[in-house]
Amino acid sequence: MQQLFCYCSDCQARTGGDKWFGIWYHYDNFAFTGESPKVHTRTGSSGKPVHHHYCGKCGVNVCADITAGQFFTISAPSFDSPQEFKASMAIFTASAKNWAVLPTDIPVFDNFPPKMS
Ligand SMILES: [Zn+2]
Repeated sequence: MQQLFCYCSDCQARTGGDKWFGIWYHYDNFAFTGESPKVHTRTGSSGKPVHHHYCGKCGVNVCADITAGQFFTISAPSFDSPQEFKASMAIFTASAKNWAVLPTDIPVFDNFPPKMS
């Protein structure tokens, strides 16, 4: 599991803010239970599909399935106890706008950190 802020342009557009706070789970460690979310699919920067899952009742973004990396990035605020999370890094800050608030207490990367790309 990774806990990180993503400042990419797509996350900005989806959140209406400067970043997405995602909790990343590999496919092996995550499964939907109960009602299935609605899905919107787009092509990611890798050229592979990104499936965005959102609640069919309220429209809230729940997570994105990043097929290129075989993981889900789940919206931290959508958890029951989001205050328990703490981002360990910020990525894609090269796409951050001049009004973005960048963290100063965790590693910040222009794109992916070297070991994740
Ligand atoms: Zn992003």
